[in-house]
Amino acid sequence: LVSGHAIRKSFGANEVLKGVDFEVASGAVSCLIGPSGSGKSTLLRCINHLERPDSGWVSIDGEIVGYRLKGERLYELPPNHIARQRAEIGMVFQRFNLFPHMTVLENITYAPHVIRRRSRSEARAHAHELLERVGLSEKATAYPGSLSGGQQQRVAIARALAMKPKLMLFDEPTSALDPELVGEVLDTMRMLAHEGMTMIVVTHEMGFAREVGDTLMFMDDGMIVERGDPREVLADPRHERTQAFLSKVL
Ligand code: ATP
Ligand code: MG
Repeated sequence: LVSGHAIRKSFGANEVLKGVDFEVASGAVSCLIGPSGSGKSTLLRCINHLERPDSGWVSIDGEIVGYRLKGERLYELPPNHIARQRAEIGMVFQRFNLFPHMTVLENITYAPHVIRRRSRSEARAHAHELLERVGLSEKATAYPGSLSGGQQQRVAIARALAMKPKLMLFDEPTSALDPELVGEVLDTMRMLAHEGMTMIVVTHEMGFAREVGDTLMFMDDGMIVERGDPREVLADPRHERTQAFLSKVL
């Protein structure tokens, strides 16, 4: 179970998250939608402690991310402990962020070898397995620059999976892609969902949210305004702000 409790985050005077609560069951897919600037990326970054919430916290399987609870107070964990927690959370961004000077295989084996201290041969064997799953076996020795955007994004997913994460966060993973390449990335994500990966997906792909999402959360102005079964929320949004947003994007 992944949950957030009363998460608040400001940048200067700009309060971006205004007390966000959420719950995602293990193995479930939760899609997060909402207008630009509503705080979706900031929330994802708080989940893996890339941003430190001003108050509130995230917990994964009962363990608070980034903090230790002592009495009533939260104390920030040492960086190496946070790094260990973060290694369990895979993140895929809009831009693929692959290491350009490394081959596909090196991109995937780097963190497992250096951070998880797996042997090179073990990391390589796992990387080949992952490349097969994302349909890119033949690209192991290619450099990212020679791949299409969709292929790069599938490598980015494989790279995140190489750490054997408990949770995968996706921040608009298909928004930077040419339309004809969106499908292959969504297919890869659908496969992951069917394998039981716990996922939080910020997306504009309402078809994906409807078919694959177990829950849909609508965020506006730093708050989760509405949540529910994606089919129900998309067909019959309760909140007027959800209605206004969906009428623009559907
Ligand atoms: P989009 O759909 O455009 O990606 P979003 O919902 O992901 O939007 P965020 O990126 O979370 O929105 O940003 C929410 C607000 O927080 C914006 O006003 C943004 O300018 C501000 N913000 C985000 N990160 C920072 C930062 N590091 N420093 C200052 N302000 C920030
Ligand atoms: Mg964003």
